[in-house]
Amino acid sequence: MTAQLDKVASDRESFEVRNPATGESVGTFPVHTAEDVAALVAKGRDAQKWWAAQGFAGRKKRIQQWVRWLARDCDTLYDIGFRETGKPRPDVQFELLAGLEDLRWAATHAKRVLGERKVAPGLAMMNFEARVSYEPLGVVGIITPWNAPVYTAFCGLAYALAGGNAVILKPSEISAATGVYAAESFYKANPDAPEGLVSWITGFGETGAALCRSGVDKLGFTGSVPTGRRVMSACAENLTPVLLELGGKDATVIAEDADVEAAAQSIVWGSMWNSGQACVGVERVYVVQKVRDEFLRKVKENAEQVTVGLEPLSDIGPMTVPNQIEIIRRHVTDALDKGATALVGGLDSIKPPYVHPIVLVDVPEESSAVQEETFGPVVVINTVADEDEAINRANATEFGLGSSVFSKSRGAAIASRLHAGGTTINSVLTFVGMPSLPFGGVGNSGFGRFHGDDGLREFTQAKATTRKRFKMGQEMQRFPRGKDDFDVVYKVIKMRYARKFR
Ligand code: NAD
Repeated sequence: MTAQLDKVASDRESFEVRNPATGESVGTFPVHTAEDVAALVAKGRDAQKWWAAQGFAGRKKRIQQWVRWLARDCDTLYDIGFRETGKPRPDVQFELLAGLEDLRWAATHAKRVLGERKVAPGLAMMNFEARVSYEPLGVVGIITPWNAPVYTAFCGLAYALAGGNAVILKPSEISAATGVYAAESFYKANPDAPEGLVSWITGFGETGAALCRSGVDKLGFTGSVPTGRRVMSACAENLTPVLLELGGKDATVIAEDADVEAAAQSIVWGSMWNSGQACVGVERVYVVQKVRDEFLRKVKENAEQVTVGLEPLSDIGPMTVPNQIEIIRRHVTDALDKGATALVGGLDSIKPPYVHPIVLVDVPEESSAVQEETFGPVVVINTVADEDEAINRANATEFGLGSSVFSKSRGAAIASRLHAGGTTINSVLTFVGMPSLPFGGVGNSGFGRFHGDDGLREFTQAKATTRKRFKMGQEMQRFPRGKDDFDVVYKVIKMRYARKFR
């Protein structure tokens, strides 16, 4: 396949992606129009037939080839990721690891989850065989954000492709190079695959909206809540189903029997990793009064050691998007104005394009730093009387993506009461890195799931097939009705349903 970039006409509108810290140009990308998208959907429909004909084994083989190719070429991606978003190499690597795990898992488990299987026909149809299978949808659109551009691209591609679909990937305009690399790498590993099976489009919101309106068979969107609403509304025009992976304001509960040292270390990493630009980053902590002082001391010690810079192995790099720095400034100002205290850093920590770690304590719950996604290396720590208060406050935002709890004996009990798509006990964020577990949110954090059996089924449609095995005396699917039909079924209903069942 020829790289799509080669086909971009010179008079086409385009945009440039630059490194947020150095200003270095990373590349120029076309702004794709609704006509371009329509052409790629049409190509995708043809290519998908080829992909479906490969069957589970053929698709697994090709995804495996792709995984191998990516692992061998990982340095290219570390370089693109760093140049495009300013991320330290370990952050790009972390995303790649999660993405490769997704590809591997989805390819390995697709047949088990989606393959045709027999189910019980039930009493009324006992002379039939019943089978269920999960068929590809056709062409799937995947729209991704800039903050985890490697992971979200490969995650979307993994489940959609393993489900037998063609895919059109629309990366964020801020991380277009990563998205283009992700899509084109499939052909590097599978040069004979037909054009249109894995396509990419670049551009701004209008290009994404064109994909939503293009008649694709499903739209998997990862991004902010306001854009998620626009995506759902555009998809509604064609009744295109949507999967929405939106923002979060993840909370952690520190119970009175927590390992405070381990909790402090995890909280600092969970809130500062990727400069806090993580949908599942720890943004709020509710610590029980009894262990508050010790916990705060340990958090301070840990947070003050975080290195910030442009070194390949810095703990955190620059903020990727200037607008985000203004959101952080607004949240920190609002919290301090409302009476919060800065345990670590403060407004002086905001030195664009960098934001150094900021830990805020005793932040009023109505503050923007508690209620809205901050998306920076900022964590709010509030003190609560007991675990009930911690849970109530943790559950009191519009979001419900991830959550965590630290407790030696009450972890599972507290986890079961946290209103979120995933909860980690005695660590943070771990559910994201396990492809066997469903990943997604509740509330305004979205609906639908990537990962796991649910993630594979998300990009398929259930198909029911029945086959008559033998003729029964009492058949309901025929006219004229038998004269005893009503009486026989009457008795069956009484015998079978008018009593307790196990
Ligand atoms: P965003 O919503 O601004 O943009 C996401 C994508 O949508 C981009 O590709 C953008 O070009 C596209 N887009 C913009 N307008 C559109 C429209 N009208 N129709 C269709 N597409 C449109 O989000 P962002 O700033 O790139 O990413 C950060 C957000 O993503 C945060 O809220 C973060 O929490 C969230 N996020 C969620 C997850 C998750 O799994 N739940 C993962 C990563 C990021």
